[in-house]
Amino acid sequence: MELSAGARDRAAGVLLGQAIGDALGVPYEFAAPVKAGEARMIGGGLGPYAPGEWSDDTQMALCIAQVAAAGADLTTDDALDAVAEAFIGWKGHGASDIGRQTATVLARASARDAGTRLSHRMTAVSMELAQDGRAGNGGLMRTAIVGLSALDSAEQTALAAARVSALTHAEARCVDSCVLWSLAVRNAVLTAALDLRGGLAYLPAERRGRWEEWIAEAETKDPSTFTPNGYTVTALQAAWSAIVATQTVAGPDHVSAALHLAISIGDDTDTVAAIAGGLLGARWGAERLPREWVDQVHGWPGLNAADLTRLGLAVAGTPLA
Ligand SMILES: [Mg+2]
Repeated sequence: MELSAGARDRAAGVLLGQAIGDALGVPYEFAAPVKAGEARMIGGGLGPYAPGEWSDDTQMALCIAQVAAAGADLTTDDALDAVAEAFIGWKGHGASDIGRQTATVLARASARDAGTRLSHRMTAVSMELAQDGRAGNGGLMRTAIVGLSALDSAEQTALAAARVSALTHAEARCVDSCVLWSLAVRNAVLTAALDLRGGLAYLPAERRGRWEEWIAEAETKDPSTFTPNGYTVTALQAAWSAIVATQTVAGPDHVSAALHLAISIGDDTDTVAAIAGGLLGARWGAERLPREWVDQVHGWPGLNAADLTRLGLAVAGTPLA
């Protein structure tokens, strides 16, 4: 679809915003918490990572981005197979760290009957694991880019978010969190507004009420409440509470204020900041992301900030000429 110059810049900001949050949060993942404002892109973390290097959250988002950038429709089996293949390839050749559930799903799906589609095998394993009630943040951490994959349709966006999540995280709360966040990203790109409730209409009716409560909690309780945040619901709440609590910061300084606050919550810092960063990038755009951080971010597979903005635009269907 045709995008305004502003919407194009916001589309370009999605992967870049996510990567900035990720790389800024990496040094503090599961480590001693830092105060808001103290986080620096010093690397380390679980990788260990170089300063400015993003982690598995953005690596997996890039697997999705590369499939969608080639024009594939993320609601189709063929595209989901390509994403699944990309995840497997990443695990073998790029993953500097990997979440427990994702590792389990990729390993078990690879070992199963190769006569069925890889995406179906992965989703089947993921649904089996969902029976245990696990609802980790591994789908949510990579979902922002899905918000660019069908800008002309909220329904298609919601379906793509659900299917991409279910490749590794099929539990209902995982899927719902991805639907809500991807729709919020899509809306921010199109309207420059931050609205998480707009996606509620795309959840099954019986689950909307619970999500309304969780969103309201995120908007009223102190952000520090939302830890531990390996759980997809508290991860979403942590990211949203950090964004909402800093909305009084005028202009693009909102980005750094929100990311610093998100990281100060502690626990899964890179993931919470990656989630928040994807939406903040969609709201404020690539041009207004903090330059100091933009200049430093890089990571697998050998990409930098300019590559991320190019990929974001390609996923949005408006590649650079
Ligand atoms: Mg990570």
